[in-house]
Amino acid sequence: MKKIWAAPLIALFLLLSATTLLPETRWAQIWEKARSTWNYHALPLYFAAYTPPVRAAATTEKIVALTFDDGPDPRYTLSILRILDEYHVPATFFVIGQSVREYPELTRLIFERGHALANHTFTHPGVETLTLPEYNQQLSRTNQLLQQISGLQAVYYRPPRGIVTAEGMEAARQQGLQTVLWTVCLENRNCPTPADMVRRAVARTGPGAIILVHDGRLDRRKSVEALPMLLQTLQQKGYSFVTLDYLLQQQPENM
Ligand SMILES: [Zn+2]
Repeated sequence: MKKIWAAPLIALFLLLSATTLLPETRWAQIWEKARSTWNYHALPLYFAAYTPPVRAAATTEKIVALTFDDGPDPRYTLSILRILDEYHVPATFFVIGQSVREYPELTRLIFERGHALANHTFTHPGVETLTLPEYNQQLSRTNQLLQQISGLQAVYYRPPRGIVTAEGMEAARQQGLQTVLWTVCLENRNCPTPADMVRRAVARTGPGAIILVHDGRLDRRKSVEALPMLLQTLQQKGYSFVTLDYLLQQQPENM
C-alpha cells in the first residue's frame, strides 16, 4: 500500500524538479508552441465551454438561410435589397464595421427592410495574426455601431475568409457572438458566368444549408446578376428562405 501512495509523490517531485531545472525561456518556448498549435480542432480539449462554429442546420425540412458578407456597399447593397423584396426573402448581412460607419443610412435600410445585421469585423483584416485584444476591438467596435443603428445586440459573427482561430473564438465568446460559417458560397473562381455560379450553388444546397453571397468590397456585379436566378431556382425546387435565427433553432451542424 505504501508504494502506491509513493507513486504520485515521486511524480510530483519529478515535475517540480523539471520546472526548476528548465530555464524560464525554455518554458516560454514550450508555452508558445502549445499556444500556436491551438487551432480550432484542439480547442474543445482545452475549453469545453466554446460553442463551435456553425456551418448548417441538421433538418430534413427544405429550409435554407441566405447570408451576405462584406457590405454595406452602395454599389450593390441597394440592388440586392430590391431583389430580396421582390422574392420575399429574409437575409442576414454580415457587415464590415468601417463600411457601417461610412454608410450608416444604407445599413439602417438593411435593418428597416426586415433583415438581420451581423458582425464581420471592423476592417476585414487577415485574422490569422490578430492578438486577442486586437480581435476584441474588431468585434466590439462593430457591435457598438450595430447597436447604435438597430438598437439590438448583434448575435452572429463570421470571420473573414472563414478562418477560425483560438483568439477569434475567445473574442467572439467574450462579445457574446455565435460564429457562423456557411455551407455553400455563390461566388467561385471556377464559375465564369452567373448561370455557372447558380448551377454550382444549387447543386450543393440541401435542407438546412447556409448560403453565402457577397455584396461588397470587390466587384460583385456577377453576384447581383446571379441572385434572382438563385432565389427563383431554389424556390421552384421547393425551398423556403428563413432567417438564420429560425434555421439555427433546428439542430445545428458544427464543424
Ligand atoms: Zn468577408
